[in-house]
Amino acid sequence: TPVNLVQILDDVADRFAFQCRQQEISLFVDTTSSLPNVCADPDKLDQVLDNLVSNAIKHTPPKGMIRLEAASAQDVMQVKVVDSGMGIPPQDLPRIFERFYRVDKARSRKLGGTGLGLSIAKQIIEAHGGTIRIESVVDQGTTVIFTLPLAKEGIA
Ligand code: ATP
Ligand code: MG
Repeated sequence: TPVNLVQILDDVADRFAFQCRQQEISLFVDTTSSLPNVCADPDKLDQVLDNLVSNAIKHTPPKGMIRLEAASAQDVMQVKVVDSGMGIPPQDLPRIFERFYRVDKARSRKLGGTGLGLSIAKQIIEAHGGTIRIESVVDQGTTVIFTLPLAKEGIA
């Protein structure tokens, strides 16, 4: 299905706007308006972004920022969820997409969650023919980068 990604990013950002304002986190969408459509299931894509943004909010202190970026590169869309939060230690990064894997039990217990979100996100993105990876620096922030195939129909 051809999907307007910008619309989904805006929906997700609207959904978390109140929570971000309460936590003094600035949340914004950074895209160009004329992005091509992607080929995806919109509900699944929403589920992926919902998890990534809620992860970012859980791990970003007040005065931080979360940015949702989308840009088309060659024949894929590249989407980034960037946060300025606590980051993920390098020794945990290789295992972060495993089911139930969570960084540091004490910190995870406080923040809640089951450790399934990222494994589901990976499953969904790969089922669409895309890729997903995470870059992170402790105390600087985390960026989740995923790709999706473009829809053949062209501009949204
Ligand atoms: P669930 O998504 O099932 O509610 P969860 O958020 O703990 O639970 P995942 O979304 O799979 O599970 O994330 C796994 C772990 O990766 C988290 O517990 C957290 O330790 C770490 N993590 C994920 N996203 C971030 C982020 N943006 N910044 C710092 N750590 C993160
Ligand atoms: Mg999660």
